[in-house]
Amino acid sequence: MPSRRAALGFLAASVALPQHVFAQPLSYDLRPVPVLPGIWMIEGATEYFSMQNGGAIVNCALLQGETGLILIDSGSSRRYGEALNTAIRKLDLRGVSAVVNTHHHPDHFFGNQVFADKPILALGQTGALARAEGDSFSDNMYRLLGDWMRGTEPVAPNTVLDPGEVMIDGRSFTALGLSGHTAADLALIDAETGLLITGDLAFLDRAPTTPHADLAQWQTSLDALVAIGAPAILPGHGPLDRTGASLTQTRDYLIWLNETLTKAAQNGQSMVEIMDVALPAEFAGMGAQPQEFYRSVSHLYSGIERAVLPRAN
Ligand SMILES: [Zn+2]
Repeated sequence: MPSRRAALGFLAASVALPQHVFAQPLSYDLRPVPVLPGIWMIEGATEYFSMQNGGAIVNCALLQGETGLILIDSGSSRRYGEALNTAIRKLDLRGVSAVVNTHHHPDHFFGNQVFADKPILALGQTGALARAEGDSFSDNMYRLLGDWMRGTEPVAPNTVLDPGEVMIDGRSFTALGLSGHTAADLALIDAETGLLITGDLAFLDRAPTTPHADLAQWQTSLDALVAIGAPAILPGHGPLDRTGASLTQTRDYLIWLNETLTKAAQNGQSMVEIMDVALPAEFAGMGAQPQEFYRSVSHLYSGIERAVLPRAN
């Protein structure tokens, strides 16, 4: 049963690795790439958190504002935030003028600490979730990333961003208050270029993560994003998308995931039996597979079982 072994191996691999393998100093090599006029992206690895990638798995965006660069999502650690700060100052000596967090997952807001004296904007509920869950995320991130996390403390967003037309450092956006990946997911449309920044509502060539997902809500949000018809989409993970593939791929994967788990629950299968099934070719090649599928089974299956199985009175 190779996939079961792989599942166990994946669990074991996140526990302990010999330190001498990482004797070199821990540093992030962050390279902003221009994608549209006045906009850069820093593309994360399409992997799960590891000692090798130091947690640099998230996409960050930089948009030219009036007094500096607007940073969308701040990465996974204080060290990452510092590397961002250095990379950003090479583009604009004035540095970061404002930070936006798309949602409360740690890879999107644990670099906030470095920018704590700036406005850090997010949906109100995202701020509340970051305050409520930041410490437990932090414990998990230290366990996964060890020294990469040294000195990192979760700093929640300090400014509520309400959905609607908003101006951030002189730049106009439409802010969309959505949900489904988490209970509060912000998407932004940049008025000047039409770029749609989705946070983790969209992934491209990297398996979606589901620890706080509501799959039905997520589909509703994806429908709303498809309807925008944006000329370019910056997904939370994966390359810049100029065709809309990130939205359709995320939608198709989540539909398949839900159908697969529902069918398995109807057939009375165990989690281990589900994990032994090979992924369809169209999803097997996504980054972080099959590990992300295993994680989704563990997050979602008991809820789906409860919904599917007849209640015992
Ligand atoms: Zn996320």
